[in-house]
Amino acid sequence: MRIGFIGLGQMGAAIAGNLVGARHEVAVWNRSPEKARSLIEAGATLAESPKAAATDREVVFTMLADDTALDCVLAGERGLLAGLAPAALHVSMSTIAVATAVRVEEAHRALGQRFLCAPVFGRPAAAVAAKLFIVAAGDSADLQTATPLFGAVSQRVFYLGAKTSAASLVKLCGNFMILSAIEALGEAMALAEKGGIARGQLLEVLTGSLFDSPAYHTYGAILAEGRFKPAGFAAPLGLKDMRLASQSAEALRVPMPLLSVLRDHLLQAIAQQGEDVDWSAIAHSINKNAGL
Ligand code: NAP
Repeated sequence: MRIGFIGLGQMGAAIAGNLVGARHEVAVWNRSPEKARSLIEAGATLAESPKAAATDREVVFTMLADDTALDCVLAGERGLLAGLAPAALHVSMSTIAVATAVRVEEAHRALGQRFLCAPVFGRPAAAVAAKLFIVAAGDSADLQTATPLFGAVSQRVFYLGAKTSAASLVKLCGNFMILSAIEALGEAMALAEKGGIARGQLLEVLTGSLFDSPAYHTYGAILAEGRFKPAGFAAPLGLKDMRLASQSAEALRVPMPLLSVLRDHLLQAIAQQGEDVDWSAIAHSINKNAGL
């Protein structure tokens, strides 16, 4: 298929690479064009604007940091909205606010364009290995269009129905739960370590018994090694997700006291350790609080 891909950060570059590898014709655009170099070498073409990346394309992906970045590439004379043909499809994979999913869908619909909200679970290594989980919502015909492309980048697609905002909300629920797991692991590891038990030993028991899930395996290994840089998922992006989850919680009148604690711990980790740490660095602050 003729595809556009906008946003070549840690996740986007890996996903676009798999689409190029699957022999699709991919035009790429990134705010910092040097990040496109290896994709161009692999066969992608460089577009000079989001509009150019969308022009004459059946499907255009966006994988951008946040809502503001998405708005920047959508709008204006050089924007995606101006380039996408009527009936062509925009697949948004970024983690965005529920309200943003609705707003972007309406903007596309007004121009006769199609929109699928399809955020993902999985860190950059999973994106490279085409092992992402995709949480998609939108028109089922649009899902059909995207299905062969999703097959090249993911291990499983969950379809949540026609309401695009559902995909954003489920993704935000999932990220809230991942950070909860990191917090729980961090506190348990600090407790075990102060009691003389090696982190690896604790992890072996937990992941080998009741906690045998990807979140505990992935983050357990990171916490056991204290490997918080370079970030696979940068703490400021995690903070953005906790903020978006909190916005939904407020709108839907759902008290989430644990979410407030996690948000503060992320702020603490960024304040103490810098903007470039992984979001799992909340465990480092937990260690410091425990005198480790
Ligand atoms: P990243 O490496 O920081 O990449 C962010 C991308 O957004 C870059 O292409 C960046 O362009 C672009 N961008 C930022 N602000 C922009 C603006 N104002 N205008 C145009 N482009 C802008 O982030 P990532 O880790 O790939 O994450 C991307 C999305 O996936 C986020 O929504 C994140 O929450 C979500 N996600 C991440 C992970 C993970 O483990 N990393 C997992 C699941 C979902 P430049 O290169 O020019 O800076």
